[in-house]
Amino acid sequence: MAQSKALLVLENFIGGRFVPCSSYIDSYNPSTGDVYCKVPDSGKEEVEAAVKAAKDAFPIWSSKSPLERSQILNKLADLIEHDLEAFAQAESKDQGKTITFARTVDIPRAVSNFRFFASSILHHVTECTEMATMDCVHYTSRAPVGVAGLISPWNLPLYLLTWKIAPAIACGNTVVAKPSEMTSVTAWMMCKLLEKAGVPHGVVNVVFGTGAKAGEALVCHPDVPLISFTGSTLTAQRIMEKSAPYCKRLSLELGGKNPAIIFDDADLSQCIPTTLRSSFANQGEICLCTSRIFVQRGIYSEFLKRFVAEAKKWKTGNPSDPTVDVGALISKEHLEKVRNYVKKAQAEGARVLCGEGVDSLALPPGNQKGYFMLPTVIVDIKDESCCMQEEIFGPVTCVVAFDTEEEVIKRANGVKYGLAATVWSSNVGRVHRVAHRLQSGLVWTNCWLVRDLNLPFGGMKASGIGREGAKDSYEFFTEVKTITIKH
Ligand code: NAD
Repeated sequence: MAQSKALLVLENFIGGRFVPCSSYIDSYNPSTGDVYCKVPDSGKEEVEAAVKAAKDAFPIWSSKSPLERSQILNKLADLIEHDLEAFAQAESKDQGKTITFARTVDIPRAVSNFRFFASSILHHVTECTEMATMDCVHYTSRAPVGVAGLISPWNLPLYLLTWKIAPAIACGNTVVAKPSEMTSVTAWMMCKLLEKAGVPHGVVNVVFGTGAKAGEALVCHPDVPLISFTGSTLTAQRIMEKSAPYCKRLSLELGGKNPAIIFDDADLSQCIPTTLRSSFANQGEICLCTSRIFVQRGIYSEFLKRFVAEAKKWKTGNPSDPTVDVGALISKEHLEKVRNYVKKAQAEGARVLCGEGVDSLALPPGNQKGYFMLPTVIVDIKDESCCMQEEIFGPVTCVVAFDTEEEVIKRANGVKYGLAATVWSSNVGRVHRVAHRLQSGLVWTNCWLVRDLNLPFGGMKASGIGREGAKDSYEFFTEVKTITIKH
């Protein structure tokens, strides 16, 4: 197919150098449907070279002081921040997200990931106990593990990749990272800044390619003792299987089917705009997005009326238009999958109040082939429906009524996932009670997505294994040893 513009061609970053690959994958601009970039289709050979470079760099990097590493992380944060607009433009084009979201959420967070771990690495203390009757002191020491394999998804590309790279290298590990094959551009742009930031060659290596080839080669590499993975539960199962023969250390951040529980004493003026964001931000492509909204019966009609009216105001269209709220979904296949969920719900007798199949979507001429979908609200749906049980990962949310606290806790917990929940009520006793009983790694009360990076992040049940955060990431990316001294 003739292309009017030259395609962007990415290269792997191995041992401090950009290295071409023998074959490439097409990468699409989701807002136009055009191929605009070629991503290396790496496999075993490329992963082997990257692991070797990371192993060679480990002795020097791991022996640097936390302060030296911290200064380099801060420099890298400054360099990304300096190029924030270029990164935001690239992320929006590559992923389909709105330029506003990339500018205000993705790239600022990538910057703060490096700053946060540059700081937190300076403040850890290890334990020490005294056993006077035995004339002993015991203490723990922590050391980096080695080469860390980092695998990230397409929804928040640089944000989630740096959330892994920053703690891994702050702790003294070297890394081989594999971003999603669908969103590789900002990782490649970051590689261009590493040398200037003072990151020694081989400390950060990035291999691009598919999960089946490059991802699995990394997971199965005997010299990569730990894998930090963010992505779907299905892929995590495969990674667990494949890594089992090597007894690898795994951190798994997976999908969700997140409930919002709205009691009749909730402040709807806060709850409605926040629940719209929690349902539709980033096209609903955030693992923390709300997709089951339980509303207490007394306010159900009022909530629904106001929620749907506001959802209809969300503007869907060209992601580079700063007035647009909903950009394009990641791919044609994903758009089809999300649409099919809506169709299945309708076939089961559910009603769609706005969005897909109900409202018309007017797109600018350049975006007619893009993967767009309007914010969609489904009602009259049973808890057993696949739309209430499975992760849709698109701008689709279901609203159902409930009567009692006891009932809603049971229903909210009635899925295989357990990542994030929101609870809306002005009764402080109730929010504590409900928060304690929800099977969810994160519970936000009267807010959503307010994060303190110090605290554990992660899911329970099929939403993950392990936690990330200041202390949790430090523990994951280091090996602890207990030393006993008799005097
Ligand atoms: P995915 O599981 O398809 O892919 C994630 C990454 O794994 C990609 O880089 C992919 O190439 C790689 N991969 C795929 N198969 C692999 C294999 N066999 N071996 C090794 N690597 C492999 O997920 P996705 O579609 O990119 O992302 C969406 C999913 O990620 C959703 O389920 C979402 O909830 C989840 N997610 C979770 C969090 C969290 O923090 N819990 C955050 C963001 C996204």
